Order: sequence, then structure tokens, then C-alpha cells
Amino acid sequence: MLLESLRTDLVRYARKLAMSGLVRGTQGNLSARDTASGCLCVTPSATEYETLTPEDIVVLDAGGAIIEGRWKPTVETPTHLRVYRERPDVGAVIHAHAPYVTAFGVAYQPIPLVLEEAALCLGGPVPIAPYAMSGTEAFAQLVVSALGQGAAVVWGNHGLLVAGPSLKQAYAMAHACEDNAQAYLLAKQLGEPRVLPDDEVARLHRYWLEAYGQRPLPSPPT
Ligand SMILES: [Zn+2]
Repeated sequence: MLLESLRTDLVRYARKLAMSGLVRGTQGNLSARDTASGCLCVTPSATEYETLTPEDIVVLDAGGAIIEGRWKPTVETPTHLRVYRERPDVGAVIHAHAPYVTAFGVAYQPIPLVLEEAALCLGGPVPIAPYAMSGTEAFAQLVVSALGQGAAVVWGNHGLLVAGPSLKQAYAMAHACEDNAQAYLLAKQLGEPRVLPDDEVARLHRYWLEAYGQRPLPSPPT
């Protein structure tokens, strides 16, 4: 089986996404890019997360042609392909129906950053892409334009897309975005939420890009 390790990871994160409530039923889709070959692993259309296996994952070349797989890839494949084409820094894309994030996409209000965790991995307010029927090239263009060089974008009247360096980071970003949206909306019941200043968001995001995460500890002096 081609790209077995990446396909196994994709299944693991797909299940985590479903278990954490960011998708329900067969909603949402995930993909990851193999840096060596440039090939993409994507979830199949109408994914049943509970029974998904690495063999169900579809492998595509960078142009979207199926290299290996027994199912049709997700209907959102044109958007995944377009994100990878425009953003060489992106290694994984997750589309989820995160409920609090989606509320902002229904109200067409960009999501301000109020949580440190979200500032670290998102690096700026999350924009809203205009509504269009998803799954088409025209829709993919709308999403990529709204995403720009950012980490996340909300699809108007639909859901969330995050574009991260790896599956692990994209998964963390999706959760941080949902937690931030929820905290903002709850805080709004209490008063006016205090949004993190732009320069602090920039500082936190720079730290996340450069230093955050597990690295091997330096060897102790002998
Ligand atoms: Zn969707």
C-alpha cells in the first residue's frame, strides 16, 4: 500500500476529529501531503469515521489524479488541491463543521482572537469566505482567496477549513479555533470580550512557528 504511514495518520486524526465533535456523521474531510513525492492522501467521499481504514484513504497526485484507492475522494477535493497548490508551506488540510466557528460564518463576522492558544497557532483573526456551493473550482478559488497566507478560513453558511504544516498541528489549530469562537461568544454574554492586541498575536505566533512543540533536549554536559 502506498504511503501507508501517512494514510494511517490520516485515519487516526479523522477519528479524533469525529470523537471531539468537530464533525458529525459523515461531515468534513481531511488530507495530508507527502513531502517527498508531493502526493496527497485524502479521506473518501461520505466517510464513515468509525470504520475508516488506511485502505479507504485515496492517494492523489498533485494534479488530483487518483494513484491508489478504492473509493471516490471527498467532494471537497478541488479546494484541498487548490490550497496545496497555492501554499507550499501547508502539509495538512482539515475541513470541519465546528459549531461555534460556523456561527461566525452564518453572521459573516471574522473571528477575533481572544485566547492565547488560538493566537499562537492561528496568528490572526479568521476571515469569512463568501457563500457558494462547495465542491467546485469556483468555490475553491473563493476559499483560497479568503485564506491568503493565513492558517484558517470560515466558509460562509458552512464550516471551517484549517491549513497547517502537519496533521498534528492542523488538528490543534481546528480545536483552538473552535475554543476561541466559543470563548468569545460566551464572554459576549458577560460583557465586551477583550481581544488580544495585534502585536501580541504576532509575537505569540512567531514563537509558535519558531520554538513551540517537542524537540530533543540538548545533551547534558559531560
Ligand atoms: Zn462541509
